[in-house]
Amino acid sequence: MMRSRVATVEDLAQNGAGRGEARRRIPRTDLLLADPRLAAATRRLGRPLVKAAIARAQDRARNEEIPPEQVADAAVAELPPAAATLTPVINATGVVVHTNLGRAPLSPAAVAALAAAAGNCDVEFDLAAGARAAQRGRGAIAALRRAVPGAQAVGVVNNNAAALVLAATALAADREIIISRGELIEIGDRFRLPDLLTSTGARLREVGTTNRTTVADYREAIGAQTAFILKVHPSNYRIEGFTAGATVAELAALDAAVPVVHDIGSGLLAPHPLLPDEPDAATSLRQGASLVTASGDKLLGGPQAGLLLGDADLVRRLLRHPLARALRVDKLTLAALEATLAGPPPPVARALAADPASLFRRSERAVAALARRRVSASVVDAEGAVGGGGAPGVTLPGAAVALPEALAAPLRWGEPVRRGEVPAVVGRVERGRLLLDLRSVDPDDDERLVAAVLAAVAASRPAGEDA
Ligand SMILES: *Cc1c(COP(=O)(O)O)cnc(C)c1O
Repeated sequence: MMRSRVATVEDLAQNGAGRGEARRRIPRTDLLLADPRLAAATRRLGRPLVKAAIARAQDRARNEEIPPEQVADAAVAELPPAAATLTPVINATGVVVHTNLGRAPLSPAAVAALAAAAGNCDVEFDLAAGARAAQRGRGAIAALRRAVPGAQAVGVVNNNAAALVLAATALAADREIIISRGELIEIGDRFRLPDLLTSTGARLREVGTTNRTTVADYREAIGAQTAFILKVHPSNYRIEGFTAGATVAELAALDAAVPVVHDIGSGLLAPHPLLPDEPDAATSLRQGASLVTASGDKLLGGPQAGLLLGDADLVRRLLRHPLARALRVDKLTLAALEATLAGPPPPVARALAADPASLFRRSERAVAALARRRVSASVVDAEGAVGGGGAPGVTLPGAAVALPEALAAPLRWGEPVRRGEVPAVVGRVERGRLLLDLRSVDPDDDERLVAAVLAAVAASRPAGEDA
């Protein structure tokens, strides 16, 4: 007769006893919290995050993935690198202003200003007088005025969308905004400008067609209900072919009583030689715009903010509206914005200006550094982009480091990234290769980029295989 291979009652009892015994040896949470490494982490990260890491390690021991003796080490390995989950990323996509990666990276000067303002600071206090200051964030406001001398007055709100909502609310509630049908745009992720504007109670008076809107179209729409004419830079798409549009100068000349509000989008304060089709604040104001709105974290290269630039009277009306309080920026934004405007050129400006030869040299240096560690990569021509819904159709020729596509995932989210040892790296996959385009990488980060590639290669090599 065949003996079946079913476990006997005795077997089960013995196993259960072994498991129970191992479970009893799993260190208790209070003991683990006393481990010097975990005690130090408690001061740095706070108790709940450390206790969560401990609980994960204890669970692994309970599931017999690790022996009880290793629970303390496993808890240390489970610790998050920081108290916040945002992971630093090296943007090697070649897209200079990448919305999903936090748009403009701040300059070191802006980061320092932000850190200095993080505690208590004189954002709304006059230290000399020892009393409340007349203006909140006066340093940032003064820097913005110096940067755009053509603006009689300036203001800063949460973002460009907030600037538009404030303009529509303060100037056009229950009245009409005249706008071309070619400028009813969706900026991204279902954020549609017409919906934003009408949410304030303003009515849109659409004029012209998708491809052609003339000055006469605007002129005929002006009436007693008109609050302002809105001109929007269709920053993320281009209409080519049989087209017509009205310039700011033409619209400003229509009717002295009808202000022209110009949403220039990207935040160029003055013309940029490489981006001739991108509108800028100085030119728009000189051509007669009464109010210019723009983002702070696109081509300006600063923190998320909405800039209001223009007529003293209009800007004052906007900033005195009750809604302005709900859209105001914090001290960190004011600090970073001031340093971006008054300090050295931000990374976005450097990235835009980087010439192909320097990008090629940097790529070659990275490839050589990888080759020294026996990782093969090559330098290829690459085309970057402005991004951030700016300068559609403009490509920025440069160079990239080409690697096997299989490295894309570990570079984004490999073990060393999770442990906070190297930054996450996001490149772009093109024709079966991973390209790391150095245009959008700060030159000071080139070495960290190489270190991240080496870590990803080491982590994805089968165990035992040498580098
Ligand atoms: C990006 C953009 C916006 C939205 O700006 P936020 O600062 O993201 O609110 C609005 N209008 C135009 C033309 C844009 O390009």
